[in-house]
Amino acid sequence: MHASNNHAAVVRHKPVRQWLTPTSGYLTGYTHTLNPYIGCDFACSYCYVRRMPPALFRGIPWGEWVDVKEVAPHRFAAELARKKSKGPVRIFMSSATDPYQRLEAKEHVTRSLLEVMAADPPEFLLIQTRSPLVTRDLELIRQLLPHVRVSMTIETDREDVRRAFTPGTPPLAARIEACRAVRKADVPLQVAVSPLLPCTDRFAEQLAGLDADRIVLDDFFMGDGSGGKRTRQLGLQPIFAELGAEQWFDPTAYLHVHAQLKDVLPEDKLYVSQPGFLP
Ligand code: SF4
Repeated sequence: MHASNNHAAVVRHKPVRQWLTPTSGYLTGYTHTLNPYIGCDFACSYCYVRRMPPALFRGIPWGEWVDVKEVAPHRFAAELARKKSKGPVRIFMSSATDPYQRLEAKEHVTRSLLEVMAADPPEFLLIQTRSPLVTRDLELIRQLLPHVRVSMTIETDREDVRRAFTPGTPPLAARIEACRAVRKADVPLQVAVSPLLPCTDRFAEQLAGLDADRIVLDDFFMGDGSGGKRTRQLGLQPIFAELGAEQWFDPTAYLHVHAQLKDVLPEDKLYVSQPGFLP
């Protein structure tokens, strides 16, 4: 392992013994998670991984360190083949990092994993990201059809809200453009409104205009795996207060947006929380 500093993070490169981690609990329907990185340079304020042991005991603030997993393609290929020989492999990429965080532009870890999976696809791969960088790999992703879906997180239509909660993430307009590119490439698209943040009354219509295969609405209370407890520990109330949007930090706040989405979307395209992420 060696360490170096870059503008965003303390970056370490780490060899990996096992890529595919068996799932449990929240990720029903998936057999494995695949995390190309440990840590995430998007540093979202509400990220529940902040409260998990690898982040809590690091001694460096979340978002300022990232471990880059070193890919030996033949080893990952062998592991994937071995797991496939034992039964269907349905992969959630990623559960504790963003596979297209800023570092991926130069590290290409996610891209290397996709190259292996394109040659020997799992039964299903969900690519969950907040980044338009995913469009760099659309040609590769197309090679995984029909075993793949791209899920793009868009939590609000308000850029001021995005900047307040997740200043390190790509702007909303760039994510919307990326959704269009995914559609254009005929790759199944999911938009994850997850977690729902304060938004305008035009949000539902904007989402409908993306023509996604699925829109999944999730909030802090349903989506953090602890009924909102983990989120409260993150101390996000001051951000809601600064925005004058305290009423949005409420288990029923999503119902308003859900009703608006129901008006503009076919029933089979609208999901709430966990079922929306099923393969
Ligand atoms: S992109 Fe995901 S993993 Fe990264 S900080 Fe944000 S919520 Fe956490």
